[in-house]
This record gives sequence, structure tokens and C-alpha cells, in this order.
Amino acid sequence: MITGSQIAPGGAGSDHRPNARQPGFATRAIHHAYDPADHQGAVAPPVYFTSTYAFPSVAENEEAAAQGGVLYAREHNPTTAILEARLASLEGAEACLAVATGMAAVGTLMLSLLSQGDEVVVHRTLYSNTVALTETGLPRFGIRVVPVDLAEPANLDAAITARTKLVYFETPVNPLSAVLDIAAIAARAHAAGIAVAVDSTFASPALQRPLEHGADLVIHSLTKYISGHGDVLGGAVLGRAETISQLHSHGLRYLTGATLSPMAAALILRGLKTLPLRMERHGSSALAIADMLEKHPAVRWVSYPQLASHSGHAVACKQMSGGSGMLAFGLHAGFEGARRFMDRLSLIARAVSLGDAESLVMHPASLSRARKALRPEAHLTEGVGEDLIRLSVGLEDADDLLDDLRHGLAGV
Ligand code: PLP
Repeated sequence: MITGSQIAPGGAGSDHRPNARQPGFATRAIHHAYDPADHQGAVAPPVYFTSTYAFPSVAENEEAAAQGGVLYAREHNPTTAILEARLASLEGAEACLAVATGMAAVGTLMLSLLSQGDEVVVHRTLYSNTVALTETGLPRFGIRVVPVDLAEPANLDAAITARTKLVYFETPVNPLSAVLDIAAIAARAHAAGIAVAVDSTFASPALQRPLEHGADLVIHSLTKYISGHGDVLGGAVLGRAETISQLHSHGLRYLTGATLSPMAAALILRGLKTLPLRMERHGSSALAIADMLEKHPAVRWVSYPQLASHSGHAVACKQMSGGSGMLAFGLHAGFEGARRFMDRLSLIARAVSLGDAESLVMHPASLSRARKALRPEAHLTEGVGEDLIRLSVGLEDADDLLDDLRHGLAGV
């Protein structure tokens, strides 16, 4: 039987030679926490399709129950355990909880750590469904959400009260590609004894590890860069072992039950192997595209943190090792121009989501207007203009992407 302690970071797959250097990021993305010798030589981790686990005796069943061993697949799966240990190693975290989607990760975190009467401070701009959770979901349970512009970290001080339990933000921010200073925000939050959670989905651990800059918890939508191929959903929360254990034993077990499927865990492990290579290509192509857009007469503004003109460029250089494929821009032709531009694209797909091999483009203002028919309360996220076009630069040849974009811009 596999127990929790056997899958801790630094378990199978790590190097036990005295004074051995820790393997590099790319090596750990491929090998950490897995030894083929433990699985009949299978080089790729096996997928454990089982809902429950049998024990040779009642006593061993009891022992597993007492020690947090593997009893039932809502809470434990050996394939998922490899993914969790590997992600924890890459993020520099003590522990990781993998769940069914990125929203499940955000929900599990909030519902496990916050109670009625608590307050959470969030950055004013967040992923649209995290906005829905904070505006509509959490207040229903008596949790007060205080949106603040954390681009100026000093704004945090006035938002903190005796009831504040958590500061939550994304960086880079979806969909603006704005950058928030993790270390500066964490220092102010910690001075007041408050934990900080960072959604690092836009960067991935290959480019940014928020715990190294003072954050207490990291969130990822594994659906995006970490899996990288647009064929699976997943989410993760990473941080100290004690906190992650609380999210596991309360959040996953009975608050959300949002377990990751073992097949999804295997697909995410497969995608993860090429994460550092993919991020290099996403970043170099995105920079070439951002450069082209910045000089194009039809383009009014471009937001890409690795451009010297970006307001958060210095902070991005401090806390990120490179750029991802995410950028935002607006045209002089505004809302209507964005729609005409997008309809002229032939290689880049008009699709939500991000971080895939395929380049994807979306226009949040068009989608939010359309959603109003279904949900009257739908609105464009704070700080997002009607002209904003979000581009997730994929892994195609940069020249082909540049051609497609130039063709699109020629018709606005
Ligand atoms: N966080 C960010 C920054 C996102 O962009 C998304 C989805 O786009 C999520 C969380 C939610 O992830 P998922 O779609 O896997 O639920």
C-alpha cells in the first residue's frame, strides 16, 4: 500500500547520494517522484483506474486509515500522487493538492481556509470566473471580499481589518498581462499576519515561483501551460504541508469532492515533461509578436511584461525568469475593430483558454456582452477595456503567426 509519506517531495526519483546536487528543473519535470523499478520497469507512470483499495486484513485497513493511507480514490490515487509530488518539487513547495480544474483549486482553497465573517482582499482584476466566485459565491457564505488595486502594494494596508484572513491575486493578471509585485505585497500582508495566495497560471513554475518571493500558497490551472496541449482540465494548490493537508482532508474530501481523474493526471504528467522547452518557445514568439504589434499603426496599446514599455517590466524582470505566451492589446478601431481583426485570422483560433500548443485569441468584451443573454449579472471584469484582445501565443512558427496577425490587422 502506498502511504502519504512515500509520495512526499524528495521521495522516489530524487537523488540520495551524499551532497548530490538537486537535479535541474527540466530533469525533475520528467523524473521526479517516479522510479520505473517500482512499476515493473514501466518508463511512463501507470494510470491507476480504481475507485477503492483492498486490504489483506482488517488490522491493515485500520492502520492505513490511522496513517492517512490510500483507502478511496476521491482522496488518493497513485498516479495523481506522482503529479502532486512532481509539481511540489518544481514549484519549491512542501506539498501539492491536485484537483479537477483550476476553479476547483480556487474554490477548494477559499472554502477550506475561510469561514463566515472572514474577509479576503483580492486584486481588482481577476480571471472572470474567479470574479464570479468572489462577487457572488463567497458573499453567499458570509465571506466579505474586498477588491483593491494591488498594483500599488501600499493600497493593501487600508483594506486590511482584524477579520482579513487572505490576500489573493494573479500575476501576470488575466486578461491584462499586468504584473503585481509578489514580494512587496507579501511583505505588507505578513506584517499584518495574513497569508498570501498567488494564481501563477499565466507564468507556470518554469518562469515564476511565487513561494520564492514570499507567497504562502500558489494556484495553477493545470489546464493551461502545465498540461500544455488543450486536451485536459486540472488544477493545483501548493504550499506548506500542513495547509495542503487541511485542503485535502476538508476541501477535497467533503467541501468540493473535485477529484482529478487519474487519466487527466497521466496526461498532465506527459505534458509537464516538455514544460520548460515549451515556455521558451511561447516566450520568444510572444516577444517577437509584441514587438511587431507595438510598431503597427493599427495598434493603440500592447501589454506584454517583457516589453521595456510595460509598466510592470522591472517587477517582471525581478520575479520571472522569462515571458510566457500571454499578451493583450487594443486597436485604434476599438471594440468593432477587434471583432473585424479576429474574423480575418485563419491560423490563430478564436477560442477561450490559453497555454496550448495552438495559438488562441479572445475578445472578452464580445463574450461578456453575449453572456448577458444567459446571465444578466455578467459584466466585463474591472480594469478590462472593451477593446482588449487577449492572445495566447502557441508553438507554431513565429513567422506564420506574424503573417496571420498582420493579415488580420490589415483589415481593421
Ligand atoms: N486561473 C486563471 C488565471 C485562469 O485563466 C483560469 C482559466 O482560464 C482559471 C484559474 C480556471 O482554470 P480552469 O479553467 O482549469 O478551471
